[in-house]
Amino acid sequence: METVGSEPLIGWRLWRALGDTLVSWIAEENWAPGENAAECLAQHRTPCEAPPGAGCRCGYWATFGPERCLHLVRPRIGERALGFYGRPVLGLVAGWGEVTIHGREGFRAGRAAPVLLFNDVVAPRGLRPLRGWHRRRGATLEGLRRRYGVPVVSLRAALQQGVLAELGAGETGIAEAAQMLGPQPREYPPALKGGQPSPPTTG
Ligand SMILES: [Zn+2]
Repeated sequence: METVGSEPLIGWRLWRALGDTLVSWIAEENWAPGENAAECLAQHRTPCEAPPGAGCRCGYWATFGPERCLHLVRPRIGERALGFYGRPVLGLVAGWGEVTIHGREGFRAGRAAPVLLFNDVVAPRGLRPLRGWHRRRGATLEGLRRRYGVPVVSLRAALQQGVLAELGAGETGIAEAAQMLGPQPREYPPALKGGQPSPPTTG
């Protein structure tokens, strides 16, 4: 664990959407549009002055990849994924201010803002593309897009159009996204038709 300066980092998070509000899974905390400033929630000792405190769990968590993110929250989304406690929504956050890196897992930041939301359906086993019949999910996402002022796209589109790279999602996260989505549909140059597809490019 190390503390770095004020360089903004991009990480992956899973929220649950209650109406048009993004709520943290673990801390039951509502996220505001734009900048959010973390508070230490320690109850049986003096709260950290400037989250993320060393040896504490405060600050906004984000992981370096989508699979890591689901892995972290998966034990908690079995029944919640059914929508009873709100719809799970995967997205990217920018974290800055005081930032503590947790190995290859992710980081905790004192300040964070949602920067992009993915419309994919989040199920305990992974992501599924949003379809036309997911009307209520579509309406929820539209509410989030308006309230938070961030783009809402499919993970596949974000990957294929280079949005992840553009936002600074990092190679680890991009590789994990590509792996989660499986083989990418692609147009082969005529000379390669019938040959082996080249490895998916991740932009
Ligand atoms: Zn703390």
